[in-house]
Amino acid sequence: MIQTLTQVSTIQELRSLIREARQAGKRIGFVPTMGYLHEGHASLVKQARLTCDLVVMSIFVNPLQFGPNEDFSRYPRDIVRDREIARSAGVDLLFTPSVEEMYPTEVLTKVSVAKVSEPLCGKSRPGHFDGVATVVMKLFQIVQPDDAFFGQKDAQQVAVIQQMVRDLSVPVNIVVCPIVREADGLAMSSRNVYLREEEREQATILYRTLQHVQERLKSCPAVETLKDEMVRMIQSQPLAEIDYAEILHYPELTPVTELKPGDRIIAALAVRFGKTRLIDNLIAEI
Ligand code: AMP
Repeated sequence: MIQTLTQVSTIQELRSLIREARQAGKRIGFVPTMGYLHEGHASLVKQARLTCDLVVMSIFVNPLQFGPNEDFSRYPRDIVRDREIARSAGVDLLFTPSVEEMYPTEVLTKVSVAKVSEPLCGKSRPGHFDGVATVVMKLFQIVQPDDAFFGQKDAQQVAVIQQMVRDLSVPVNIVVCPIVREADGLAMSSRNVYLREEEREQATILYRTLQHVQERLKSCPAVETLKDEMVRMIQSQPLAEIDYAEILHYPELTPVTELKPGDRIIAALAVRFGKTRLIDNLIAEI
């Protein structure tokens, strides 16, 4: 069967098409993205295709989640290419609203999730997760999906969304999908295109560090020792500048003082190469 794709840019058109599908008894799957699609995004769509009858993807670079000195205006965009990737991955309905469509007037209502939003990226990107939670809540209100698909690549985002869904009884099932990587281990990201050749080569240190952590976890080392090893490995790359290298409980994102069997932890990294900030993580049961 040839996959066809319908693209709409208004909330009204999207709601009307989704209403028809729901009335026909279809299960609605939703994949929110900021576009510049890659195989990581496609993997979420493929997962959605397995359980849903109508797969909706949004492409929206959300200004609310970017800080004043961040890359909102230079974030990569290519809707023609995205449309083809979305179609061949299995998207039925592509929602591409403008900023004016999503936020026609000043946004005075924000969704703010305490605690899990605070460490890691919350520290270096103040307000980021309020922006994420607010847009995801708004998209959930527009699409009203049965299932929504998120990547573990953004593990703190998953923790924030799951907390929000629980706290506010949002009627959606959150499905978390594994991190998709390049052949050399670099986690796929729309921001990888920013990397210059030398930076791209050194960027594999994130994955190599997480592999080292995975190996070391087998012998339950002292947390501080393991964090020092993470820092040292990343610092071995001259162009790498560490934002954080942390080990926390997951999904609570509280400090770990000692690694104990039965614990579920996240080893989380954010590393800058020039102007490009990369994140990666490993979630493990000890
Ligand atoms: P973004 O367009 O970067 O906002 O990402 C949209 C969705 O795709 C989020 O749920 C991300 O976690 C997910 N995603 C991004 N990169 C990857 C990846 N390499 N593997 C799996 N999921 C990803």
